Amino acid sequence: MAKLVSDLKIRCIYPHFRKFLEGHPQLDSHLKKYLVGNYTMPPSLAIPIIASLTPPEIQLNLTDDNIHQEINYDEDVDLVAISCFTPQATRAYEIADEFRKRKKTVILGGIHPTAIPDEAIRHADSVCIGEVEPVWNEILEDCANGNLKKFYTHTQPYSLDKFPIPKRDIFPRDVYKWEAHLVLTTRGCPVQCGGCPIPGKEGTSVRLRPVQNIIEDIKGMPYKEFYITDDTVMLPGKKYSMFLLKLMEQTKELDVNIFLASTMMMPPDPEFYRKLRRGGAGSIYTIFGFDRVSSQLMSPECTKEEWQKGIDLVRMIEDAGIHFFASFGVGFDNQDSRVFDTILKFAYESKIDLAEFYIITPFPGTPFGKQLEAEGRILHRDYSRWNHGNIAFKPKNFTEKELMDGFYYLWKGFYDDKKHGDTLRSFSLSESVSRSINETVQS
Ligand code: SF4
Repeated sequence: MAKLVSDLKIRCIYPHFRKFLEGHPQLDSHLKKYLVGNYTMPPSLAIPIIASLTPPEIQLNLTDDNIHQEINYDEDVDLVAISCFTPQATRAYEIADEFRKRKKTVILGGIHPTAIPDEAIRHADSVCIGEVEPVWNEILEDCANGNLKKFYTHTQPYSLDKFPIPKRDIFPRDVYKWEAHLVLTTRGCPVQCGGCPIPGKEGTSVRLRPVQNIIEDIKGMPYKEFYITDDTVMLPGKKYSMFLLKLMEQTKELDVNIFLASTMMMPPDPEFYRKLRRGGAGSIYTIFGFDRVSSQLMSPECTKEEWQKGIDLVRMIEDAGIHFFASFGVGFDNQDSRVFDTILKFAYESKIDLAEFYIITPFPGTPFGKQLEAEGRILHRDYSRWNHGNIAFKPKNFTEKELMDGFYYLWKGFYDDKKHGDTLRSFSLSESVSRSINETVQS
């Protein structure tokens, strides 16, 4: 029966996902003190964005399954909205199925349902494909009228000109350990790295969020630390550098600590990094393996010049006072078992002191995922293990055992001689996190 939009009751769910060192206790206990491998980042912005798009008269609440809040499957609600990326998908489907057994209406959205909506719809009444902003109002109206469509998708990419300030306080603040938040700066990416789901979900042209809108967002945050995870802002090219430097001109005044993310496709310009440092950049989380530069660096075909350029880039960033945090991927088709020593050698020669190691995951909808699907190399669909810490596909130039042993070898080999004080120098930790690290170190 139809009702007013303002009378809707919505329950959002953020499903649990297995952090990528979970299930590897021998590594986890050894590495806890370095705060790596456990994905302790602030939660995704999808639900805070939905909360900000929803008229205030509507009752919208969150159950955070990721921190094990209890789910009330019998709650009287008009819509259950579940957003997930791939490591959350199996749990998202379980939750959706439980609600639907009780005749509740469920909508799924996020990176995973966008990539394979035909799978997601088997667990939901409706699937939001792609960006939610252009279609959320329509979803609310259709839900109130009792005629939700099976699929919602936008016709035009969403302009970030009037991007709503995400309501991050919908998540319980004190449970997540970081006193930090994610900040969105761009959508879309033209590079189309084989393993990355971003171009598939957000398109291949980059949309920039207006700097003033970002600054307004940052000023409203309770914390002085934030993460810009859109690595497009670090791509070489005037469009990106000028945008980031314009933003940094303003963050300079705000006394903030910024985590940037990047691939190895970064401008080789020392002054650029000095300016980023002055704007508050404390760390650059750099993913190796996806992009052509790092892919070549880690391959047996890497030339001496390419190797040296990679080392020079790391040192350039460190010399500017920005902590280089590396994330090395293994299992790619252009690698073989020599890659493990290549990575350790690169880390040693470039003096990287903070790193994570991950196993490539064939995310649905990505070129790599589609290729493995076509070649029949997908091993299982327990998405909770599609989390970069387990093998989900048949590797090309390794046995599965070689790949897993190499993953352990990297974590152990890299951290054996590290001092946790050095590795954590770019984090501003909350008191509770510092205390728990000190306890771990002393025990
Ligand atoms: S990894 Fe980064 S550069 Fe590559 S496609 Fe994804 S967003 Fe673009």
